[in-house]
Amino acid sequence: MKTVVTARHLYTPAEEITNPLLVIEDGHITEISSRASRSSPATKNGTLVDFGDAALAPGFLDIHIHGGAGLDVMLASTAELPRLGQFLSSHGVTGYFATTVAAPLDSTCAALDRLADVIEKKTSDEGATEARPLGIHLEGPFLSHKRRGVHPPEYLVEPTIKIFEKLWQAARGHVRMMTIAPEISGAMEVIAEAARRKVCVSIGHSDAELPVAQEAVRNGARHATHTFNAMRPLDHRNPGIIGEVLSDDTVTADIIADGIHVSPEVVKLFLQAKGPERAVLITDAMSATGMPDGRYQLGPIQVEVKDGKCTAGDSLAGSVLTMDRAVRNVTRFSNWTLPKAVRAATLNPAHAVGLSAKYGRLAVGVEANFVVLSSAGDVLKTIVGGRGLQPN
Ligand SMILES: [Zn+2]
Repeated sequence: MKTVVTARHLYTPAEEITNPLLVIEDGHITEISSRASRSSPATKNGTLVDFGDAALAPGFLDIHIHGGAGLDVMLASTAELPRLGQFLSSHGVTGYFATTVAAPLDSTCAALDRLADVIEKKTSDEGATEARPLGIHLEGPFLSHKRRGVHPPEYLVEPTIKIFEKLWQAARGHVRMMTIAPEISGAMEVIAEAARRKVCVSIGHSDAELPVAQEAVRNGARHATHTFNAMRPLDHRNPGIIGEVLSDDTVTADIIADGIHVSPEVVKLFLQAKGPERAVLITDAMSATGMPDGRYQLGPIQVEVKDGKCTAGDSLAGSVLTMDRAVRNVTRFSNWTLPKAVRAATLNPAHAVGLSAKYGRLAVGVEANFVVLSSAGDVLKTIVGGRGLQPN
C-alpha cells in the first residue's frame, strides 16, 4: 500500500524541504520531493495524509535512557518493555538505547540477556507504533569512584577484557555504547577492544586530566556522556576532560538539556562549542518520567522525585526529561532553530553511534520512522515503520 504524506516543512534534517511529499510503501520511504517541483501529483494510487502547517522530522533517538512510565529497563520484564516504547513514541522517540547503571554483575548480565531478547524480537503486531530498543548502552560498571554520581560504589569495577567479554556475551553483542572513565586502571585496553567491536566508546563519569582524555580518544573513544555532569569541572588553566570534549572536533558529545543538570547558559555554550553537527541530546530519563512525584527505582538505586528533580542522597539521579522537551528547550536556551535542535536528537546521535545509514534521517530506502511536529516543537504524531498513518 502506498501512502503519501505532506505538511508545511520536512527536515531530513540536514536539509529543509518546503511543501514536502513523503511517499511510503511497505513501511519504507520510497520518495521525498516537494509539491513545488513535482509536475504530476504523487498521490496517484495512494492515500494522501495532509498534516497542514506541521513539520515532518525523523523520529528522535535517545541513546541514554534508563526508563519511563514507571518501568526501569534493568528491572522490567520483556512483556512490560513495549509499554515504555509506547510512552517514548508519544514524545517523538522511535528508537532508543536501553541504558544500564552499575549493579551486581550477575543481575546486570540477567538484565542484558532480557534486553537482548527484546532487541531481537521483531514486532508481530501490525498496529505497533512503539519506540524500539536498538541496542544497549552500558553506563558502568567501569566508572570513577570520584565521579560516580549515584552509581553505587560497591558495584563499580576496574575494567578488564574479561569482564567486558562477560557483559558482551550476556548482551549477545547488542552493546552499542559504553560509558567509561579513561583514567582508571585497565580502561585504555578495554576502550580499544570495545572500539574494535564498533561500540561507541563514550568518556564520562570521569575525573580525567586533559592528556588522559586525549589518550582515550587516540585509543578509540569518540563521544562524551552527559557533558559537565559527573566530570572533573573545567578550569581555564587545567581544562581536564571537559577541555578535550569541547575542543576536539573529532569528538561528539551529549548533554541533558532539562535546565536542571546544566544551566541554560552553559547548554548554549556547549551547543556553540560542539556545533550543529556534533551536539547530541539525551534524556538520561529514569522510571519516574511521565509519572507523579514519589519514590522510584533506577536499577538498584532508590530515587526521590520532587518537582521534576530526581535525587538519591545529595546527587542528581537521572531525569524526568522527555526528548521533545529537550528539543524545545534547546530552541529556548540558545538561538538554534527547530530544525537545528531536531538534528541534535536525530542525525547526530545516529551518527555518533554509527547507525546513520538506517536511523536518524529521512531518506529514500530507510524505514518510515518519523515525527509530526507543530511549529512550537510539540509532537502531534509519531509514525514507526510506516504504521499508524491511516487517517483518523
Ligand atoms: Zn544515565
